[in-house]
Amino acid sequence: MSSQSSLQDRALDVLQTVFGYPSFRGHQAEIIGQVAAGGDALVLMPTGGGKSLCYQIPALLRDGVGVVVSPLIALMQDQVDALAELGVRAAFLNSTQTYEQAMRTERMVRGGELDLLYVAPERLLTQRCLELLDASKLALFAIDEAHCVSQWGHDFRPEYIRLSVLHERFPQVPRIALTATADPQTRAEIAHRLQLDDARQFVSSFDRPNIRYQIVEKNNGRKQLLDFIQEEHAGDAGVVYCLSRKKVEETAEFLCAHGVNALPYHAGMELADRTANQSRFLREDGIVMVATIAFGMGIDKPDVRFVAHLDLPKSIEGYYQETGRAGRDGLPADAWMAYGLQDVVQQRRMIDESEADESFKRVQGAKLDAMLGLCETLHCRRVRLLDYFGQASGPCGNCDICLSPPVSYDGSVRMQKLLSAVYRTEQRFGAGHVIDVLRGTDSEKIRQWRHDKLSVFGIGADVGEQEWRAILRQAIALGLLVVDHDAYSSLKLTDAARPVLRGEQQVLLREYRKPEKKKRDGSRA
Ligand code: ADP
Ligand code: ZN
Repeated sequence: MSSQSSLQDRALDVLQTVFGYPSFRGHQAEIIGQVAAGGDALVLMPTGGGKSLCYQIPALLRDGVGVVVSPLIALMQDQVDALAELGVRAAFLNSTQTYEQAMRTERMVRGGELDLLYVAPERLLTQRCLELLDASKLALFAIDEAHCVSQWGHDFRPEYIRLSVLHERFPQVPRIALTATADPQTRAEIAHRLQLDDARQFVSSFDRPNIRYQIVEKNNGRKQLLDFIQEEHAGDAGVVYCLSRKKVEETAEFLCAHGVNALPYHAGMELADRTANQSRFLREDGIVMVATIAFGMGIDKPDVRFVAHLDLPKSIEGYYQETGRAGRDGLPADAWMAYGLQDVVQQRRMIDESEADESFKRVQGAKLDAMLGLCETLHCRRVRLLDYFGQASGPCGNCDICLSPPVSYDGSVRMQKLLSAVYRTEQRFGAGHVIDVLRGTDSEKIRQWRHDKLSVFGIGADVGEQEWRAILRQAIALGLLVVDHDAYSSLKLTDAARPVLRGEQQVLLREYRKPEKKKRDGSRA
């Protein structure tokens, strides 16, 4: 008991004297206690939650060097520099070093001169490195970004699976695995594959109450983004995520031309330019970084006031991770996204055209479906988001749905019309054409295919094109229609469509609202 409490005292002392923080956050104290005492831990904590201290402090409290396995090679130098500034003796081993540099680090490890050693997983698994560790006193192993062990995850790294060797070869050394990906399947997979079944699990709340979630229908995304920035975030720092490099460039130019202090960032840029833009974003006030998802890993800027998505993320994990970069300081921040039917088509195509095997594609498809479900939900976005991570909660009062609840109506007849139009046109056409048929539009293509002769021609003329698009998106989110991967992105009926077509199943739809401007307090302008 007394040794336990003195361990706590020593941990707090290190927090204050070395890191300069007055107190622990969340589960930090418990986690540090567990690992410092020699136990294993599995830590699930959102990005920005403070995972690093959970292994850094135990490494300082225990004899020997703490070995940190991380796939983020690009961040190691910064991490080591930051620690050196605090007087912590840290170094790294990865492929960016010269032979001499690596030799020097190895000597320091052997001589017991280091508190922390960062290693890339592929490096750690080399015979040379394992033998180095055999010959050294080890404080702990920290396995950062532990979700990389999950084959179904978005950043699977095969070397991570082989990290179970650490337990076999160094059974006495405590291990702590950390990740910001919290869904129950990934958690189970980490515990299983890294042989951490007996580790204590620490699961933090993933709620970020100061972030307001908002997902709007896209009609002119760039213009909507500009309005959003000008009306709600003039002069604020923010991040805008786009899918492609080209769109990053175009969007940054567009924003600059309209007086927003925007910079581009993507992996296709010269390293020097990219790094320069990143450090300007970190140092200067009020810069809007327009970026692909290459941007953000390890970026720690507390006062990002908004994160905007101009394209649909691939998964809820991605969305959560990216939006999580807003409001780290705890002050109000926005997660804003514009999304439309075209996003669904595009993402589907990317999955279908990827080189991955079928089962992987199925998983990606399911993740996209979950993301669509979040976009089309009639209920609180936060409830949906946290539920995805296995955490129950109540309506938040701080998302677009809570602030301005959508009205639902019995849309069974409209849905039947849509599904019939897909069926009558033989499931061979994309959204635009199907809507033309429904609305009775006179076009070359309609006449060419004689679709003006179909019974469904014009049966939906009372509904506007935008509204049909909204219904179509809901049909996809409800799993009644899928977008095929042929060249036309044609719509196909699923088995679930049958009872709806036969009138055996009611469909609730969201009442359509023309996109309009909203004030900050959620009321309509
Ligand atoms: P994660 O790895 O979970 O994304 P970090 O370990 O990088 O998070 O921590 C995020 C930020 O929070 C860092 O700036 C860190 O110094 C700070 N931080 C962590 N723990 C505390 C604490 N107990 N008190 C104050 N700041 C903290
Ligand atoms: Zn809500």
